[in-house]
Amino acid sequence: MADIGFIGLGHMGAPMARNLLKAGHRLRVFDVSPSALESLAEAGATPASGVADAARDKQIVITMLPSGRESRDVYMGLAGLIASAAKGSLLIDCSTIDVATARDIHGAAARADVDCLDAPVSGGVAGAVAAALTFMVGGSDTAFARGEPIFKAMGKTAVHTGGPGNGQAAKICNNLILGISMIGVSEAFVLAEKLGLPAAILFEVASRASGQCWSLTSYCPVPGPVPSSPANNGYRPGFSAAMMLKDLKLAGEAAKTSGAGTPLGAAATSLYERYVATGKGSLDFSGIIEWLRQAG
Ligand code: NAD
Repeated sequence: MADIGFIGLGHMGAPMARNLLKAGHRLRVFDVSPSALESLAEAGATPASGVADAARDKQIVITMLPSGRESRDVYMGLAGLIASAAKGSLLIDCSTIDVATARDIHGAAARADVDCLDAPVSGGVAGAVAAALTFMVGGSDTAFARGEPIFKAMGKTAVHTGGPGNGQAAKICNNLILGISMIGVSEAFVLAEKLGLPAAILFEVASRASGQCWSLTSYCPVPGPVPSSPANNGYRPGFSAAMMLKDLKLAGEAAKTSGAGTPLGAAATSLYERYVATGKGSLDFSGIIEWLRQAG
């Protein structure tokens, strides 16, 4: 069992840390929120007084932070992880952040003789609680091999997607597909309603035809055809529209800096921006169908 530092005990980080405790690992944890820290201490983790204290003498440190700004600060700040981590330790950032910041962190870690992985996840809070996350992991082969047993305690799959930053690249490219396809599927259901074609019939046809995709068959945005989808539960998340917007913006930034053309990604970002601006950011991202229905 490993001695692990864990920083960022929010919706995702707290259940992930709990699963590491359940697997028998020893944890020293830190969060800027005292209540988050207290709750993990009650579960058996040792609370740390700050980032450097959480990393002290640890073989592995995991972070699960809101965005690239916090990751940059926690990793590369004055008393940050890279300055404080033990030589030869492994730092794993599971936050979803921009590729450029992830690659900067890898570079700084390499200069400090510390192993590093960017390992964003999919599966949401339910996946984090059930230890069923999928990790998309960028970094060296040796770092990935060191991280694998840890990923197993928090998830069901870890895919090595290549070198530094490629975990983040895989995550935002996947969510670019997801955001666009959810809008496409939603538009088709809204049009079907206007044309007098029942949702159940459209589902029956499209789920067996060339319109088939995950947004339709696993996460259908209308109630009925897929009983487990958030549409059957008032669009309670799931994966929130605000999170989808964040990931689409990350894809847009990456497209801009790399020179990739993503016009549908830009359109999806603008539609999610408008949906979130109506105050529905905390609802599931498939709830955009309700806004599209009204927008028509
Ligand atoms: P969250 O806001 O609930 O948790 C983030 C935690 O980090 C908070 O407890 C906050 O207090 C803490 N924090 C912020 N700055 C800190 C600092 N400087 N030092 C220590 N702690 C700090 O967010 P979340 O929903 O747990 O998401 C975490 C990451 O996972 C995000 O990058 C998100 O995009 C990604 N993600 C979330 C989901 C989801 O469904 N929630 C799904 C996939 C990926």
